[in-house]
Amino acid sequence: MINSSQEMAPLLEVNGLSVDYGIKGVSSRAIDTISFPLRAGEAVGLVGESGSGKTTTAMAIAGLLSPNARVSGGEVRYRGNRLPIDDDAAMRPHRWSETSVVFQGAMNALNPVHRVMKQIAEPCMLKLGMSRGEATARARELLELVGIPADRGAAYPHELSGGMRQRVMIAMALACRPSIIIGDEPTTALDVITQAQILKLLGELRSQLSLALILITHDLSVVAECCDRVMIMYAGRIIEDGTVADIFAKPKHPYTRLLIESIPNPANGKKMMRPIPGDPPNLSNRPTGCAFHPRCPSAMGVCATEFPGLVKFGRGRVACHLLGSLTEEDKVEVHA
Ligand code: SF4
Repeated sequence: MINSSQEMAPLLEVNGLSVDYGIKGVSSRAIDTISFPLRAGEAVGLVGESGSGKTTTAMAIAGLLSPNARVSGGEVRYRGNRLPIDDDAAMRPHRWSETSVVFQGAMNALNPVHRVMKQIAEPCMLKLGMSRGEATARARELLELVGIPADRGAAYPHELSGGMRQRVMIAMALACRPSIIIGDEPTTALDVITQAQILKLLGELRSQLSLALILITHDLSVVAECCDRVMIMYAGRIIEDGTVADIFAKPKHPYTRLLIESIPNPANGKKMMRPIPGDPPNLSNRPTGCAFHPRCPSAMGVCATEFPGLVKFGRGRVACHLLGSLTEEDKVEVHA
């Protein structure tokens, strides 16, 4: 539940952030002037197909961009202070202590030659200055918190199931008591039942520890389960955002509508996922105008030539020329 003081002071502010990747001498804009707030205790889903910019957004916030990425504009503020997101060393005091990341594929993220207890205890010693004994006690506490008996901490990663490994990743992310957790497709590699258990765990921890959550996924149904707000990204831009209830009840952007329609719904006899026709754009050769126009069933002439700005609409924002019929009172330009 968000109160009015939290409304006024976001925990995190992303302001006009742009990131470019340099690949073989060619620069491609992965995210383009995106802006959004994240309030304390809020859960925001970042949704889009591969290449939409959602993971780059999250990695930029955590200061974990790859060496060939460059912050080409904008800023990220945490509790009002600008973060040095393009300086790995300067971000170290912030990362894991204030913002943690739960990566997908725990088997790749965990060290296979160390027992999981040691891997959870290590950040407690490094970041919180705990002794080995204190850090081990904290690691045992964290394992229990994520639903793993503390004695299983003696196991190596390969001795645990996929769901348990992901729980270990969550325990590691919580080790230094951060305010923000970023989940980068944290349930992608798991079966449906384990996925539901991990999402339930994240939701419980979020309310228990007053965590803000940024959940990255290509799956809108995951967002419906555990987020307050959702941002839809396409070709590096936010093209629609709003509360989960508003977006699912009345999506405004054609891409959002197609994403929702693509979700299987056995209750309606829709058993199979219905993919969106066409492919996401090549970011080094982005379509002119609205980047979605080559795939959009509602495209008009203007869509191929003019970029639709992101405008405030009700409790959310939308970037689509179809909103041209709105009254001027309804429209507030957010950024170009
Ligand atoms: Fe479709 Fe045009 Fe809206 Fe883009 S701006 S989503 S092409 S209607």
